Amino acid sequence: MAAVTSEIEQRIAQLRVELQRAGYAYYVLDRPIMPDEVYDRLYRQLQELETQYPQLITPDSPTQRVGDKPASKFTSVKHRIPLYSLENAFNLEELERWQSRWQRQASKVNDFAYVCELKIDGSALALTYENGILVKGATRGDGVRGEDITQNVRTIKTIPLKLNLDNPPATVEVRGEAFLPLDIFEAINQERQERGESLFANPRNAASGTLRQLDSKIVAARQLNFFAYTLHLPQSEISSQWESLEFLQEMGFLVNPNRKLCQSVEEIAEYYRHWDLARKNLAYMTDGVVVKLNSYRLQQQLGFTQKFPRWAIALKYPAEESPTVVKDIIVNVGRTGAVTPMAIMQPVQLAGTTVQRATLHNSDRVAELDLRVGDTVIVHKAGEIIPEVVRVLIELRPANTQPYQMPSHCPECNSPLVRPSGEAVTRCVNSSCPAILRGSIIHWASRDALDIRGLGEKIVILLIERGLVNSIVDLYSLEVEQIADLERMGTKSAAKLVAAIAASKQQPYARVLYGLGIRYVGSVNAKILAENFPTIEQLSSASVETLEAVYGIGTEIARSLKEWFEITANQALINSLQKVGLQFQNFSPTDNATQSTSLTGKTFVVTGTLPTLKRNEAKNLIEQAGGKVTSAVSSKTDYVVVGEDAGSKLAKAQQLGITQLTEAQLLKLIQGKS
Ligand code: NAD
Repeated sequence: MAAVTSEIEQRIAQLRVELQRAGYAYYVLDRPIMPDEVYDRLYRQLQELETQYPQLITPDSPTQRVGDKPASKFTSVKHRIPLYSLENAFNLEELERWQSRWQRQASKVNDFAYVCELKIDGSALALTYENGILVKGATRGDGVRGEDITQNVRTIKTIPLKLNLDNPPATVEVRGEAFLPLDIFEAINQERQERGESLFANPRNAASGTLRQLDSKIVAARQLNFFAYTLHLPQSEISSQWESLEFLQEMGFLVNPNRKLCQSVEEIAEYYRHWDLARKNLAYMTDGVVVKLNSYRLQQQLGFTQKFPRWAIALKYPAEESPTVVKDIIVNVGRTGAVTPMAIMQPVQLAGTTVQRATLHNSDRVAELDLRVGDTVIVHKAGEIIPEVVRVLIELRPANTQPYQMPSHCPECNSPLVRPSGEAVTRCVNSSCPAILRGSIIHWASRDALDIRGLGEKIVILLIERGLVNSIVDLYSLEVEQIADLERMGTKSAAKLVAAIAASKQQPYARVLYGLGIRYVGSVNAKILAENFPTIEQLSSASVETLEAVYGIGTEIARSLKEWFEITANQALINSLQKVGLQFQNFSPTDNATQSTSLTGKTFVVTGTLPTLKRNEAKNLIEQAGGKVTSAVSSKTDYVVVGEDAGSKLAKAQQLGITQLTEAQLLKLIQGKS
C-alpha cells in the first residue's frame, strides 16, 4: 500500500467536501455549481486516489454511492431492480481497456456485438406497467429508492399509458431518459428570465426539476419527452439489447433511431466520432455515447459492480472544460512588449488536445481570479481558441499559498515593466528587448506574413543569441556559412533557409505590411490598406481622417498606423527593408519591369532528385522569386535545374543548349548572387 502523506489526506478530504457540495446542488437543488465535465474529472481524481490509498476509503465518500438522495417532496419508492449508474470512459483508450477487462472476465463468448446508443442528457425514469397499463413512474433517486412521480410521468405524451400489445405481460418495467428538447428548454428559460426567476443551468437540470414539480399542470405545459432504452420483461424470448429496443418500439415507445450494432472498437470509434460532430444538429442534448454488450447471456455473466454494470460504459465526448492543478505562473513577453501571465498546469485533455499552458490575460484577471500556484482551476478550450483559466476552485486550495505578484522587471531584458494608467496590459518598453525582437521576427516569418519556411522559433532564438540578427533587416544579409553550424542546421538546410529568406523579397506589399506587426493591422486589414494606398509613401503620409474613410478601417487602426509611422526607428526600418528589396508597393501582375529579379519572366524545368529540396519546394521558391515552372523542356525554357538520375529532360536540355543549374546554383540565383 502506498504511504499516505498529510497532503494526500487533505486533497482527498477536500475533494470529498467539494463533490458532496456539488452533488447536493445538482441532485437536490437542481442548481449545479460546476459543469458536469468538471464534476466528472474531480470524481475521477478522487477515485484514482482511493484506488492508490484504499485505506483512506470511507463509506460516506461520494464514490461509494450510486446517486444522491432526492429531495423528499414525493413518496419514496423502492426500485424492484436497482438503477445503476454507468462507468465513464473519457477517450478511446479507456474504452479499449474496458473491452480487455470484460473479455478477461467473460468465458465462452461467441456474441461479441455491441449496441451503441446516444447518451441522452436528461433524467432517468423507471416505468412499471401491470397488464399493459402504466401504474408507476419513478425517478432514479439514489438508485435503490426513487420518488413516485406517476402523475407527472402521465403528462409525457411519448410514454404510452397503455402498451400496444394484444396479450400484455403481468408486469413489465421500462427504463429510459426523460429530456427537454433544446428549443423548449430555451423557451422555458426565456420565460423565467422575463418573470425574474432563476434560470436552469442546462436541459438536464430543467428536465429533472420539471419532473419533480408538485403541480402536474406545469409539467404538462413543459412538454417533456422520453426515449426508452431498457426493458425488464421476465420470461421473454428476447435475448439481446438490440431486440429489446425493437420490442420497446413495437410496444409504443419512442426509441432513439440513432443506434448502431457494432462488431469492434473501431466501429464504435467511428460512431463516436460521427456523433461528436453530428450531435450539434440534434434537437436534444447528448453528452456521449453508451456502449452496451448486446447479448443478455453475456450481460448476465458479467453482472454488476457496486455501482455499474460491467457490460456497459458511457464514452463521454471530449471535454471543453476540465479541472487541473497550476504548477507555476510565468509571464510571456510578446512582440508588442505586452507581458501576459500564463499558467503552467498539469497536462490535461481538452477538446481533443493536451493542454499545459493557459493564458491569464493580464494582472487584473489574475487578481480577479485570485489564482495562486498550487490551485486547482477550471480550464476552458474550445476548437482552435487559446486555453484559458475560467475559475479557481478555492475549496481545493492547499495550505500556505501566496497571492500572485506580477514581476516588476522584464524576465527577458530586466528593464522595469510599465503599466500605463487606464490600461490593463503591463508592457516591456525596451524596444531592444530580445523578446520583442524574437516575437517580431517570428511574426515576420509566419505563414500569413512573409511565409519564410524553415525560420521557426528555435532558429530565431539561436540567430538572436549568436548576435547574427538584431533586426528584421539583418535576416537579408545572412550568409550560408554563418548559420550552417547552428544546432541542427548543416550547409544544406542553411542554403535552403537563406534562399527562402531571399525569395520572401517577392512577397506582395500586403503581406509585408502585415509582417511589420503594426498594432491592429491583421492580415485582412493589411490587404485593405494595400489596395487603398498602393505605396508605403501614400500610406505613411495619409491622415487619420483619410485612413478612417476607408471602408473596414476604424479609428483605432488609423491612430495606431499614424503613431507607428511617426516613430523614427520604424521609418528607418522601412528604408532599410526597401533597400534590401522588399515590396512596398502594389504591382499589377503584368507590371514586371519595376520589381524584376534575375528570375522574373524566366521559365524553369526541374528534373531528377535534388539534394535537399523536394520538387514542390523548389517550385515554390522559384515562383516566389518571380520565375515560372513548367513540366516539359522546350525552346522557351530558360533553365533546367538538374538533380540525380535526371532522364530524358536533361537530354532534351542538352540537345537544345539550355542552361543547366544545380540546386546550389539555383539557390544562389534566387539570392541574386549568380
Ligand atoms: P451518468 O449520467 O454519467 O450516466 C448514467 C446515466 O446515463 C443513466 O442513469 C441514464 O440516465 C443516462 N443515459 C442516457 N442515455 C442512456 C442510454 N442510452 N442508456 C443508458 N443510460 C443512458 O451518471 P449518473 O450516475 O447518472 O450521474 C452522474 C452525472 O451527474 C454525471 O454526468 C455528472 O457529471 C452529473 N453530476 C454533475 C454534478 C455537477 O455539479 N455538475 C454533480 C453531480 C453529478
